[in-house]
Amino acid sequence: MQGTVYKSTGSWYTVKAENSEFYECRIKGKFRIKGIKSTNPVAVGDIVEFELTEVGGETVAVITAIKDRKNYIIRKSVKLSKQTHIIAANLDQVFLLVTLNNPPTFTSFIDRFLVTAEAYDIPVVLLFNKMDGYDEDEMVEVNYLIQLYRSIGYNCIEIAAKTGENVDKVKSLMLDKTSMFAGHSGVGKSTLVNALEPGLQLKTAKISEQHLQGQHTTTFAEMYDLLFGARIIDTPGIKGFGIVDMEKDEIGDYFPEFFELKSQCRFNNCLHLDEPKCAVKAALDEDKIAWNRYRSYVQMVMGEEENYRVDIHKE
Ligand code: GDP
Ligand code: ZN
Repeated sequence: MQGTVYKSTGSWYTVKAENSEFYECRIKGKFRIKGIKSTNPVAVGDIVEFELTEVGGETVAVITAIKDRKNYIIRKSVKLSKQTHIIAANLDQVFLLVTLNNPPTFTSFIDRFLVTAEAYDIPVVLLFNKMDGYDEDEMVEVNYLIQLYRSIGYNCIEIAAKTGENVDKVKSLMLDKTSMFAGHSGVGKSTLVNALEPGLQLKTAKISEQHLQGQHTTTFAEMYDLLFGARIIDTPGIKGFGIVDMEKDEIGDYFPEFFELKSQCRFNNCLHLDEPKCAVKAALDEDKIAWNRYRSYVQMVMGEEENYRVDIHKE
């Protein structure tokens, strides 16, 4: 039989079969995904083959194979170096909730998130939440951000989870897909999920980010079916994607607005920093690339992590 993993506790896996029934499965033998040493062989979202066998008069469900993943997100363990934990697999999209204040979502955070998602090959939709509460000055800043991210190809939706504004737009994007919600604590993830499906409580909101600081232990994700016909993967304590190992010269590949320009740089290994005849720097000088995006890029290449607000006016 074939099914999708909805929950994993490390030794048991809840699998929803194609007949919509749930089976508590064990795994058989060792599953190894090439190139990854993970602490868990099977993750939420995995599509698996399983069979029912008789053991001592009891029927036991055993996972025998995993289908190739179209993508997956991992958490690296700090203590167990090189050990990775696969948080979830086969995501169709991630919604990143963004608020200007209360809490602030810095562009540096958004950009790191987008780069990681590009590296993971997961589409991101930016949800600008709390649109009901911005004053005139804040609206200028929010609109700038929306225009910016739209101009480089990201789907941006202005919503107010609390009042329900544009929640139907989010719903229509979620239909028949597997989605995940991310964003800082307080941006409105649980409010939005409650607007989508009243009564559903997310773990995402239940565990504080401080609690998870420095904690390497596994936090189990879980998949839920929503009544209107969508699946969400709830991952406690995930505000971003964590760190992906990236080479310096790879980071530029995940900035869509650099894409057309790279081939025009004089050096084909150009890092777009201080190299002569760099097409990215030239585009920056002509305001064709946003200054804060470029700054995010430089910080990522330099391995720095500083938070900053958007600069609407280039200094
Ligand atoms: P989470 O930590 O991301 O799950 O955030 P919550 O859903 O708990 O929301 C944090 C706070 O923001 C709560 O007080 C919500 O009522 C409030 N909030 C969420 N969405 C909106 C919104 O669209 N507009 C306004 N004004 N407040 C919101
Ligand atoms: Zn360059």
